[in-house]
Amino acid sequence: MNNYYDVAVIGGGIIGCSIAYYLAKEQLSVAVFESGEIGKKTTSAAAGMLGAHSECEDFEIFYPFARSSQLAYLELEQELKEKTGIDIRRTTGGIYKLAFSESEKRQLQSLSSLATVEWKEADDIREREPGISEKIVGAAFIRDDVHVMPEAVCRGFSKAAQIHGAAIHEYTHVFDIQKTGGHYLIKTQAGDFEAKYVVIASGVWSNALFKYLGLEHRMVPVKGECLSVWNEEIKLKHTLFHEHCYVMPRNDGTLVIGATMVENDWSEKPALGGIEQLIMKAKGMLPSIERMKIASFWAGLRPKTFDGKPFIGFHPEQDHVLVAAGHFRNGILLAPSTGQMIRDLILGKQVRKDWVDAFKIDRKNDVFV
Ligand SMILES: Cc1cc2nc3c(=O)[nH]c(=O)nc-3n(C[C@H](O)[C@H](O)[C@H](O)COP(=O)(O)OP(=O)(O)OC[C@H]3O[C@@H](n4cnc5c(N)ncnc54)[C@H](O)[C@@H]3O)c2cc1C
Repeated sequence: MNNYYDVAVIGGGIIGCSIAYYLAKEQLSVAVFESGEIGKKTTSAAAGMLGAHSECEDFEIFYPFARSSQLAYLELEQELKEKTGIDIRRTTGGIYKLAFSESEKRQLQSLSSLATVEWKEADDIREREPGISEKIVGAAFIRDDVHVMPEAVCRGFSKAAQIHGAAIHEYTHVFDIQKTGGHYLIKTQAGDFEAKYVVIASGVWSNALFKYLGLEHRMVPVKGECLSVWNEEIKLKHTLFHEHCYVMPRNDGTLVIGATMVENDWSEKPALGGIEQLIMKAKGMLPSIERMKIASFWAGLRPKTFDGKPFIGFHPEQDHVLVAAGHFRNGILLAPSTGQMIRDLILGKQVRKDWVDAFKIDRKNDVFV
């Protein structure tokens, strides 16, 4: 077995696998070290929305980064299918971001200045989605905020990275990283490996590795609970979104209802109270949902930094260590842009300076205001 790589990526979630894919495509020798199975932690809990518009509160820095990632999915869908046979199931349909009051309407109408967003009146929406609440006053229709199957994307990245020569080490927990001369020693339960560059992409568990690298930064888990029901009655075609809650039609015949936000809870099991809250919110948008049969429920831990934006970039003092973690509510959306940015940083290619400054790990508290 090869024990030396150009780049060791620690974490086989969607972020680590995206990085591995973009680097392996450039003929670097890359290894992913994953404690368990690829894509089975937070990535598998995600709904998979590519909410560049619906999740955006900062149009100067976050939006262009998120939008370029959203657009990258157009090519990726084809690319991953051709290379691996994996279908990431990118849907069409978009999102209705609902307004239930005049003040919500005013807020959402301001989004309509973006080319991909259109204001729709309530009657128009009810014609397309007959099951929707009588209480809506309208919605911003966001055509491009579609969704993908997160685990399929992650497996697609990992398999395509392997096809380009990357090694994927599952069940290989990294318990220490040490600097030895010009290289890094990666200590795992399956033995020691060496690499020239190390990328920490271990989601909310990156904290444990930060301490070996002299980083004091910490992420907190924000648990998200979800449930799914069989979409048998209404055949909802578009995602409905209101106050961080969504009802999203997947093309496996289910509606995903998500997601709660429980800060600082490390348990990956959903609580009854969380599921109850979701059902109440979903009924507010789609009253007949209460008759639908439950398919499943689950929870996952979103990695949140102090300002809610990811850490993507070099370690402040060690120029061969990089971090790509803390993607919070948007890791699926941001995976392609993050993989490309880490690739470009390692290859010394040009990266937009405002992105480097905004996402660097030692940024100030006031970058995103
Ligand atoms: C309920 C819910 C809904 C969501 N919906 C969306 C959505 O619609 N759209 C969107 O864009 N985002 C969504 N997200 C957020 C998204 O899921 C995350 O931002 C994303 O999955 C983070 O990916 P990651 O690769 O950083 O982390 P993870 O997927 O957690 O991957 C990290 C990996 O690192 C491994 N690891 C940790 N420590 C070590 C170690 N020491 N050695 C080896 N391996 C290690 C773990 O086993 C894990 O597999 C949602 C999240 C939740 C919880």
